[in-house]
Amino acid sequence: MKLFDQFNRKINYLRVSVTDRCDLRCLYCMKEKMTFLSKKEILTLEEIERLCDNFIDLGVKKIRLTGGEPLVRKDIIKLINKLNLKLGNTNLKEITLTTNGSLLSNFAKQLKDNGINRINVSLDTIIEKKFKKITRFGNLKKILNGIDEAQKNNIIVKINTVAIKNFNEDEFINLIEWSNKRNIDITFIEVMPMDETGLDRHLQFVPLDKVFEKLNKQFDFYKINKNTGGPSVYYNSKNLDNNIGFITPLTNNFCDNCNRVRITSTGKLFMCLGQNDYVDFKDLLRKDYSDETIKEKILFALNIKPKKHDFIIDKNTKPYMKRHMNVTGG
Ligand code: SAM
Ligand code: SF4
Repeated sequence: MKLFDQFNRKINYLRVSVTDRCDLRCLYCMKEKMTFLSKKEILTLEEIERLCDNFIDLGVKKIRLTGGEPLVRKDIIKLINKLNLKLGNTNLKEITLTTNGSLLSNFAKQLKDNGINRINVSLDTIIEKKFKKITRFGNLKKILNGIDEAQKNNIIVKINTVAIKNFNEDEFINLIEWSNKRNIDITFIEVMPMDETGLDRHLQFVPLDKVFEKLNKQFDFYKINKNTGGPSVYYNSKNLDNNIGFITPLTNNFCDNCNRVRITSTGKLFMCLGQNDYVDFKDLLRKDYSDETIKEKILFALNIKPKKHDFIIDKNTKPYMKRHMNVTGG
């Protein structure tokens, strides 16, 4: 079976936020003081697995675990192990992870042993002091050790860098060359106007179309046909071995090709990262409804998947998104 939404877009990619908690507090993602969900509010690993099973039955091929920080969820490896058993004998073809990398050195081997071959690591700067500033208290060394450990275990790493005004604009070339040396692809992402973090979005936002123009002068990019299932558009250069991606929700809308939906750790299905509507699955899971009913509700949700997000960043527009990025993850 194949899943289509009301605009005939094929949906085969599910992102699952396994926790809203995180061991960092990135300035553009969270407020300094966050209130996190209690244990009873979040789905158990069994409930997450059952929901995933229903999506897989309906045609989902790729699952990305995210958060918050997915590696702070207790027993996360158990869930990955269960999902790994479905690779190859169901519709599921890939399990992957987006992580801040802080716990990666402890987990890399277990991830590899449980079927994870590719991960995204978020890294906005490779300067220690700046890393501490943007994450409020993070330790860059831990992340770099984590990346090394992942590569030692033959996990393909991709770096995700959020472009932040007056913060890392001067590092983009360095970041590209640094990741090139490590044989790592890197994707730059525009900051999105999710819920308030205490800092004005328009003071954080850097339009990537302008960044591309500048970088292009240095690298003379050419577009390549790489598609990892996400919204990144990739380029290569004669001077580089790695691929450079750009995710441009604000300057170049990619919603026509959207292939994904997102489940939060409490079982809410967000059909679009940039809209507030959701369909809640927690009751269905907890009140012992059948898998058929769960599937019917998934189909219903896809029928109301919005056409596009309506992100706006300007001085006079308050973000209309009522959740921080750690609720749905990336
Ligand atoms: N903690 C993990 C991490 O940082 O990779 C996974 C969750 S985090 C919310 C997923 C991604 O969202 C990270 O790459 C992060 O940089 C990005 N992100 C967070 N807030 C964002 C925002 N307002 N706009 C754009 N990207 C954001
Ligand atoms: Fe945590 Fe990731 Fe948000 Fe940073 S971006 S605070 S690492 S969830």
